[in-house]
Amino acid sequence: MKPRTLRSAADLAEAGLIAPARAAAITRVAQRFELAVTPEMAALIGDAGDRIGKQFIPSVAELETAPDERKDPIGDEKFSPVKGIVHRYPDRVLLKPSHLCPVYCRFCFRREQVGRDGEKLSARELETALDYIRARDQIWEVIVTGGDPFLLSPRRLRDITRALDAIPHLGVIRFHSRMPIVSPHSITAALVSALAADKAVYVVVHVNHPQELTLAARAACARLVKAGIPLLSQSVLLKGVNDDAATLERLFRDLVAMRIKPYYLHHADLARGTAHFRTTLAEGRALMKSLRGRVSGLCQPSYVLDLPGGFGKVPVGPCYARPGDKPHEWRVEDGDGRLHCYPPNTAHKD
Ligand SMILES: *Cc1c(COP(=O)(O)O)cnc(C)c1O
Ligand code: SF4
Repeated sequence: MKPRTLRSAADLAEAGLIAPARAAAITRVAQRFELAVTPEMAALIGDAGDRIGKQFIPSVAELETAPDERKDPIGDEKFSPVKGIVHRYPDRVLLKPSHLCPVYCRFCFRREQVGRDGEKLSARELETALDYIRARDQIWEVIVTGGDPFLLSPRRLRDITRALDAIPHLGVIRFHSRMPIVSPHSITAALVSALAADKAVYVVVHVNHPQELTLAARAACARLVKAGIPLLSQSVLLKGVNDDAATLERLFRDLVAMRIKPYYLHHADLARGTAHFRTTLAEGRALMKSLRGRVSGLCQPSYVLDLPGGFGKVPVGPCYARPGDKPHEWRVEDGDGRLHCYPPNTAHKD
């Protein structure tokens, strides 16, 4: 029998991934936040301190909402002029044609929008969203996200790529997906060819732990690379999953060796029931600092925080330069923590 995606506590118990005694509690969590684990991810659960299981198996800790947590942690609703579009920055929009995901990550910032009860976009609503983009020539980039856009059929995906490719003022079409990692066999030749466009098409893959980079995931990414698509990665900094320097170094080195440029390391958002995953900003900054200088510059993503309330993403990584004692003088820290004076430019006049 072909292994299938696990979608309930009973499925998890049957697969031996949870003790049967935990099933009732997990069912309660899954009623609140959807559950899905692909066979590829299920096969990894149990090893390495269960860094994969923590990402996908519900925990009762999710039923506790911390005081600062919110339903819409990064303020998408406020910037949604039409259904399926989030327009927060002048030159780029999110387009969300799918509300489903191949897995449901327990820390997801959009956990109350995705899933079978989530916001489905009808064909007519998708057309309205595309019209919104067509009518605004300041939009230079469309980020197709969701849910997971690669769950759409290749035919629907191709229709979206073609519609975007035909909009003269767009320069870039970007897809964000977790599928190449969690459901690599879904990255078929038909799906890859559905992404073909004259405009630049980028794919950003979501991956959090080097163990997720299975042979099948590597092959799926290689199929995208061979089609001429530049790949970037985004990861979420997660307590107990990847919040140590050795894991992050392994992850970023492996990605670069797979021709995937680490783009963002996200500080975990204030989604409800996710406090057990959040590190402090100080911990995140210390981890980034431990990579700088020691690990290739290609392996350094930006550590970003999406400000609660819809104020956008900003880098929150360590800062190495601060004003010195004299005017226009700077004090700059090197990779070993030593401070150096950087002189003012004598040609500069106030
Ligand atoms: C994250 C995000 C983007 C993309 O931001 P980049 O910094 O360009 O990757 C665009 N729009 C919204 C609403 C976002 O949340
Ligand atoms: S795949 Fe992305 S959108 Fe879907 S649950 Fe995971 S983090 Fe959320």
